[in-house]
Amino acid sequence: MPEQPELVLVTDLDGTLLGGATPQRRRFYRWLAEQRQRVLHVFCTGRDLESIARVLLEDEPIGLQAPHLVIGDVGCTVACGRSLAPISLAVDPIEARWRGLPERLAPLMDGQPGLALQPVSSNRRLAYFVDPELFNPALIPLLEAEGADCVLSDNRYFDVLPAGVNKGSTLLALLEWLELDHAAVVTAGDTLNDLAMFETGLKGVMVGNAEPALVAHLPRLPSVYLARAEGCAGIAEGLRHFGFDHLWD
Ligand SMILES: [Mg+2]
Repeated sequence: MPEQPELVLVTDLDGTLLGGATPQRRRFYRWLAEQRQRVLHVFCTGRDLESIARVLLEDEPIGLQAPHLVIGDVGCTVACGRSLAPISLAVDPIEARWRGLPERLAPLMDGQPGLALQPVSSNRRLAYFVDPELFNPALIPLLEAEGADCVLSDNRYFDVLPAGVNKGSTLLALLEWLELDHAAVVTAGDTLNDLAMFETGLKGVMVGNAEPALVAHLPRLPSVYLARAEGCAGIAEGLRHFGFDHLWD
């Protein structure tokens, strides 16, 4: 890990670091690999560790490399980038917040229309595929009253998380733990589960293919830049916007 990174780049995966045309992705991954000593790279994704391992394997042929660190499960997991071993110092407090919740949530979730359980390997959240046509939004305040937070994103995913845990809160805890300068951090994402990152006040890039429901929040997010380009090219565009051009020299 770079000790004094010039940039801490925190990227969502689907639609963001995995988004855009293949030639642009190749170029961006090559640049990232070349910058390993200057850029501290963090994945920040809704995927669980097994699914992250799969992506790293699948996209290795186009140059995707393991990051230095991973935030997975929409903020409920923190792991080492190379080994994907969970970092218990970061994970244990989240696990403690989740304790007892599944038992209280189960009767509320039972038989809810429009939800299909996603098989995720972590036991610090519930993840569903959602059919927005059938889903009953009145469920959300009931889950919140039991101490859970709910995130609907991309019109496809419904996550139930321990209250107060999200991509943004876990990222801020990680930055504090590593004593990293907030000014050096840029986040990037494309769907509503990235909103919590954009609400931290850290510099952020919404890539050009961001979902409209996320872009609707842009006016109240002064530290966030909306890129024209999609996926990887959008991240690069945002980094230039924030004055990190020198990293391309
Ligand atoms: Mg995404």
